[in-house]
Formats: sequence, C-alpha cells, structure tokens
Amino acid sequence: MESMSFVLFGATGDLAKRKIFPALYNLFLDEKMPEAYSIIGLGRSSLSHDEFQTHVEESLKTFSRRTVANNAEFGEFIKAFRYQQLDVTKPEAYKNLLTFIKQREKELNLPENRLFYLSVAPEFFDDIALNIKESGLGTTKGWKRLIIEKPFGHDLESARDLNTKLSRAFKEDEIYRIDHYLGKPMVQNLETLEFANPVLQAIWNKEYIANVQITASEIVGVEDRAGYYDQAGAIRDMVQNHMLQMLMMTAMHLPKKISADDIRDEKRKVMESLRLLSKEEVGAHIIRGQYDAGEIKGEPVVKYTVEPGVDAFSTNDTFVAARLWIDNDFWKGVPFYIRTGKRMKEKSTRIVIEFKNTLKDLYQTEDQKTAPNLLVVHISPNEGVSFQLNSKNPLKNGMIEPVTADFSPVTKEVPEAYEILLFDALQGDSTFFAHWDEVELSWKWVQPVLEAFEENSIPLQTYPAGSMGPEASDKLLEENGFHWW
Ligand code: NAD
Repeated sequence: MESMSFVLFGATGDLAKRKIFPALYNLFLDEKMPEAYSIIGLGRSSLSHDEFQTHVEESLKTFSRRTVANNAEFGEFIKAFRYQQLDVTKPEAYKNLLTFIKQREKELNLPENRLFYLSVAPEFFDDIALNIKESGLGTTKGWKRLIIEKPFGHDLESARDLNTKLSRAFKEDEIYRIDHYLGKPMVQNLETLEFANPVLQAIWNKEYIANVQITASEIVGVEDRAGYYDQAGAIRDMVQNHMLQMLMMTAMHLPKKISADDIRDEKRKVMESLRLLSKEEVGAHIIRGQYDAGEIKGEPVVKYTVEPGVDAFSTNDTFVAARLWIDNDFWKGVPFYIRTGKRMKEKSTRIVIEFKNTLKDLYQTEDQKTAPNLLVVHISPNEGVSFQLNSKNPLKNGMIEPVTADFSPVTKEVPEAYEILLFDALQGDSTFFAHWDEVELSWKWVQPVLEAFEENSIPLQTYPAGSMGPEASDKLLEENGFHWW
C-alpha cells in the first residue's frame, strides 16, 4: 500500500469519533495502514495538535473494538495525527491547508497521495470539492481520492446536481461513496456465496427462486435525529441506499471476472432492469407506515409524532415495504420484497431467499406438508448463513419437518464495516463503494415514490411500536401467495 496523507474534514464530529478513528486504529493494529502516513484532522473549532490527539485517544477508549494500550505502539499511531482549524466555506483557508499538507509530506517523506474524507454535513460537499480543486490541493504528483458520506442528494435532481459539481474536481474513479452496508462482512460475502458455490450459482434464478425478502428492522425510534429524519424518512434514510444496494448484491449476475468494474457493471444492469413505477402505481406496490404508541420489551413507548423535534402533524414514513420486479431473463416474475422501519419488534438485517417448493404435493398428507427451502443470510446483529431443509423426524413417526443448517463464518473479532471500507479506499479498491450509476438509478426508482408520499396520494398506515409493521405490509405478500419470513 502506498504512503499517503489522510485529510479528514469534520474531524471533531460524531462520525469521526465513533467510526473513523476506531477504524484507523484497528487497521493500524492489524498492520493494514501504509508504511508512512500523515493524518490531518480539520474542524471548525480551534484545537492544538496535542488536544486533537487527546480527543482521538478518548474516542478510541470509548468506541474502539480493541482496547487502547498506553505503550510505544500506541505512541507510534497517535503521533501521525495533526489538526488544523478550517472553515470549509472560506476558500483562503485551503491555501494554508495545502502548505501544511506539503510540510507534513516533506517531514515524513511522503509521495503526494492524498485521500480527502468529507465527514461533514452534505451541504458542504460541493463547496469542499471545488475548494480542493481551486486551491491546488487536488493537483498532486500522486493520486487523489475523495470519500464522501451519505446522504448523496435528497432526490434525483439534487443528486445529479451534486454529482455534476463533484465531477468538476474529481473523476468518477476517484470518488468513493460510502454505503456502510456494503462494508458489512455478510453483504460482502453475498458475492462469494452466489458465485464461489456452483450449487448455489446454478439455482440463483427465476427457475428455482420463488421470492426474495430483504428486511432491515430497528427497535429504536427516531432518537435525537428528528431534525434530519423527519425530512428524510425511511425511504431516503434506508431504501434509496442500503436496501437497494442489498437488492443489487443479491440479484446481480455472475460477472465475467471478480473485479470492481465487472461487479459494478452487473449491479448497474440489475438497476437498469428494475421496473420503474409511475406515481399512480406506487400505491399498489409500496406500503408507507409510521409508528404509533406501543410497547418495546415490556416498556411503553410513544408514537412518532410526539417524539422530541418531530412535527406534531408529520406524515413522515418511519416504515417502508415494497414489492419490486427485475425485468430481465434471470428474475422475470420473481418478486423482491423489501421492508425497513423503526420501532419494530426486533433488530435484524437479513436476506431470505425462498425457493420454489415444486415437490410439495408429493409429500403432502392431511397432517403434513413440506416447507420451502430457505436460504437466510443474517447480516446483523449476528452474521451467518442458514439453510432450511426438510427432514424426517424419527421421534415423530418419521414425520417431515423443517431443519436448519447454520454456519457463522467467523464468530469473534469481525472487523467493522468502516475498517473494511477504509482499507479498500486506502488501497484504491472501489468494489464496495456506490458508483454514480447505481446512485442515479436508485434515485430514479425512488423519485415517483417520494412524489406520491409528498402528495399524500397513498395512505399512511400506522403500526404499533414493537410490531413488524402495518398489516398492509403482510397483505402485500399475501397477494402473491407468500408471507414474510
Ligand atoms: P457532526 O455534526 O457531528 O460533525 C460535523 C463536523 O463538521 C464537525 O467536525 C464540525 O466541526 C464540522 N463543521 C461544521 N461546519 C463546518 C464549517 N463551516 N467548517 C468546517 N468544519 C465544519 O456530523 P456527523 O454526525 O459526524 O456527520 C458527518 C457526515 O457523516 C454527514 O454527512 C452525515 O450525514 C454522515 N453520516 C453520519 C453518521 C453518524 O452516525 N454520525 C452516519 C452516517 C452518515
């Protein structure tokens, strides 16, 4: 891995503290950092280098998955950190930053490889990219890369606008759009599961698969994020990015070779085949929900519209379920269902592949029927894969019952999504970052849904906190003869 400068905008923020510093530290412990590197934190407040290093150390003590030892090794890590106060909206500040980066490059004998990480509010993304270009920060003899956080736009038009602005300063292959679901070990494992197992590869299509169900349910409510969430809703917060990324990873077809370009090509093809809904069709395929009062783990919880910071008349979606169709040769006629929401019964992210049960009549008797084979990819909170098969139970007179074969690839010490993604970005591997084509096609699919929600043209279903969403979400599957697993 090449030596480089890591320039972090928003270094005093929440994400830096909870995810980015711990990721860098754990990469360091795993000897996955470059041989030489400088880390420059930037923020609005004024801090000395020492104060910043203390801030990083405190963050690690609270959030790192491995403990911080006060030893020479830790000293080695922390000494790479420097801080500069910089108002991202002031172009002249970037000149000072360039001088400082160059000074550190000289001190540490670093090539001019620069990774810029924008961990700041999205309204600054375009300004920062422009200032990086205009100040000369982006004119390097080595490589430059830009990592940006979500959200990437708030609708199709604003996403396109942002992309046009970013592309004035960075080429597509220099932009790493983080979707942290793509860093989750089991989401990354989907590709291997589908393609490194000829048995699964052979049946990964419409001939054998009855439907696909992708669930991402949370127990928590809006917490202290109402300012953002009441504007975004589940559709922008989860569906446009994470849910559609998981759908792409599940539905993509075998690439010619396992490379970033080929995999992203296959993902794009899935999105190009995704059937677009007109605004008028949204109501038939999408369920929009909002949580009502209810009970979570025996404790009463309030309804969404009385949560702190939420508009009392808010029609914001805290739950979305959808039925999607991929109109290509592999998936024609196979419904893909997604559902995601807050204040649901369990915290779980999983993908369930339900296989067609073609031989069920053969075994069907009055008191026995065979269950469909299910392949379940457990993404969080626990990682693993399970496969449901039918088997005779000798203790019940040979009655056929479903049994489950489980495996967890790794049980302990699984690296966090941010570690995996940062390591990839340091190496220049963009496989598990969202390409602009994927982002744009996702917004295209979401846009009529946003409009139907905004016009209130489809009902807002309420669901009791602590349930698995509105009844209408169950009916959506019943229409095709299925139910949620
Ligand atoms: P935050 O509000 O905690 O931190 C913002 C940072 O930006 C601070 O370091 C602040 O000093 C800096 N900043 C603000 N205005 C500035 C200015 N004018 N000049 C210079 N610096 C300025 O935000 P956060 O929660 O860390 O989020 C950062 C980004 O990550 C956002 O794009 C957010 O959408 C995204 N994100 C955050 C999380 C999370 O868990 N916190 C999760 C997913 C995505």
